[in-house]
Amino acid sequence: MDNRVSGLLGGICLLLVVLTVGCDGSRPGRPAAHAREEAEPHAEGTKGGAMSEKVVKSDEEWCGLLTPEQYRIMRQKGTESAFTGKYHNFKGHGVYRCAACGNELFSSQSKYDSGTGWPSFWKAIRGDAVSTAPDRSLSVTRTEVLCSRCEAHLGHVFEDGPQPTGLRYCINSAALDFAGEAEKGSQ
Ligand code: FE
Repeated sequence: MDNRVSGLLGGICLLLVVLTVGCDGSRPGRPAAHAREEAEPHAEGTKGGAMSEKVVKSDEEWCGLLTPEQYRIMRQKGTESAFTGKYHNFKGHGVYRCAACGNELFSSQSKYDSGTGWPSFWKAIRGDAVSTAPDRSLSVTRTEVLCSRCEAHLGHVFEDGPQPTGLRYCINSAALDFAGEAEKGSQ
């Protein structure tokens, strides 16, 4: 694509972000799976989704790859309403991946019913799967949880979870992409 055309398209996308304080209007309803397909070339040899190289994209690129809801949550640190996400009451056996880059984040073995209305886990699938950062956006400082591969906002972690960790990873369903045991094994 011509650089000028590419730049123009990027500018239009950015303008839409500014005008809508989100990403709706650019490519509405584009499935998250598409984002993962485009992100995975950065992770040669990791078809299962395990973390390797960082995935770095511009806001304009994420705007085009994620659905408006995913963009609002994962790139603008939004939160879905409690009890509305597709995984808060989901009990399938498998792995939850980052909806933006495919990085494996949580196993269903560490998922539990916290009663909060958001998918909750007591540990990440690997120590390096997620990263954390202080979130001072409210009067009480919380600990933000991010995908360590693409820096997407996933949710928050609290110290009121079950043993053995005592942690509660409170994660937005929209930031997750579940792969069942059979699906995972066939890749
Ligand atoms: Fe990610």
